Amino acid sequence: MGRTQIRSWLEHLPDRTFDYSSSLEQKTLVGAWKICLESKSSKPLFYHDDSWISRSEFLEKTNVIAGRLNSAGLITGDRVLISGKTSVDLAAAHVACLRLGLVVIPVNGAYQKLELEHVVRDAQPRAALVDHDNWADWISDIDKNILVKTTAVDLPDGPVPQLDDVTPDAPALIVYTSGTTGRPKGAVHTQASLLAGVHSVALAWRWIESDRLLLCLPLFHMHGLGLGLHGTLFVGGSAVLQTKFSSEAVLSELIKHDCSMFFGVPTMYHRLVESPGAEVLNSLRLCVSGSAPLSADLHQRLKNNIGVDVLERYGTTETLMLISNPYNGERRSGSVGIPLPGVEVILDEVSGEILVRGPSVFDGYWGNEQATIEALIDGWFHTGDLAEIDEDGYLSIVGRAKDLIITGGFNVYPREVEDVLIVHNDIAEIAVAGIQSEEWGEEVAAWVVPVQNSTCPTVSELRDFAMDLLTDYKIPRRVIGVSSLPRNSLGKVLRYELKETTAYE
Ligand code: AMP
Repeated sequence: MGRTQIRSWLEHLPDRTFDYSSSLEQKTLVGAWKICLESKSSKPLFYHDDSWISRSEFLEKTNVIAGRLNSAGLITGDRVLISGKTSVDLAAAHVACLRLGLVVIPVNGAYQKLELEHVVRDAQPRAALVDHDNWADWISDIDKNILVKTTAVDLPDGPVPQLDDVTPDAPALIVYTSGTTGRPKGAVHTQASLLAGVHSVALAWRWIESDRLLLCLPLFHMHGLGLGLHGTLFVGGSAVLQTKFSSEAVLSELIKHDCSMFFGVPTMYHRLVESPGAEVLNSLRLCVSGSAPLSADLHQRLKNNIGVDVLERYGTTETLMLISNPYNGERRSGSVGIPLPGVEVILDEVSGEILVRGPSVFDGYWGNEQATIEALIDGWFHTGDLAEIDEDGYLSIVGRAKDLIITGGFNVYPREVEDVLIVHNDIAEIAVAGIQSEEWGEEVAAWVVPVQNSTCPTVSELRDFAMDLLTDYKIPRRVIGVSSLPRNSLGKVLRYELKETTAYE
């Protein structure tokens, strides 16, 4: 099979000084965290609910939680399901579990009982730390032997056990994939893969101790958890934790706490760019976007309207971060950039699929050998994402293999059509997908959220608009006006739900 190997150059750019070697010597994520948390003990670590917690206070909090869990009978290798709104309690429960050698299963709090049941039956945790209404009852209904508490871990205190004593290959997290298609599978990450994941990003983005991150992403997904929380602890930085996203809260707290970094998903940037006072993002050292495509149009608007050159990056639950625009160097609109340090990326020359190998790649799917064999072939993870590469080595994601529309025998990548049509003056948001058609096999359809006070463009209006920009078969034959697009909590469009919206034009 023909393959194009793409090399990283992101670590070679001279800039701020950094040295992560003493943390890396530990070879485990928790070992690296300990090095930071035990030094400069009064340094502020997390801000939440109107107060700061210092490194030493946080470390002590995790000691106490680990003592409680251990006294309740939990030992290295046991699995613990955790779900709650972002808070210091949630962060401390997570860190305490990992320090004790437990395997954390972070779960989306929006799950309904059936979705939770799938995860519980699949991962079989011994304990659950959950804050949501009904979850304690739901979990006990599924398996009454599971110890259920809140993330405050209100158990009797116990002696502090041996901590931070796990091996690099010990499982640390089982993260269920967001399931925009099919049933979520549990991706197993080890102490070493999680460490490698934060290291390559810290190196590429010059993330250091003096940085302060505004973190309003949920902590059940790798963007907020594996990158935002784990990264802050790895570099010894600090973070302002917000429970949910609001443009006003982000813009005011960024200034108030003198933040230097913001990590968001495209939907957040979409709202921020329209918000009064958005120029304050300009004062940050780094604004990052990921988890879903940042359209070239939005990237440009952020640059032109508020002067922010957002850095787009790309990753997956299974691999952590893989590709990023450069910190120093051109951040190209519509491109996700160059492979991160330590990450090997190749493009399958026939399909254009991104295959990756590297120390941050997961170990396999929990209890699902077949899915593991299909996804990890000779050590290469098959991402299912299709990309193109330009002459400078910048990659652009053109779509997902599964989203490919085949209409009258021609291939159409929804992303390409979306990127062209989003520029239409009456379109605020758009998603393109294929729907069954007797005549064409599949027909290209567009779900459109019109700009406020505008009407949804008709098929013929879209055709007139796109005639010179897209080949005929790529132009949607159906347009469905909707008030919003179904998205998961990370802003990814749920295409299978789209197809259920049949209020055709
Ligand atoms: P998850 O496992 O939930 O993090 O989802 C990973 C998927 O999100 C990838 O396989 C991509 O399809 C998509 N994704 C992540 N970052 C980007 C990006 N910057 N541009 C386009 N798609 C992205």
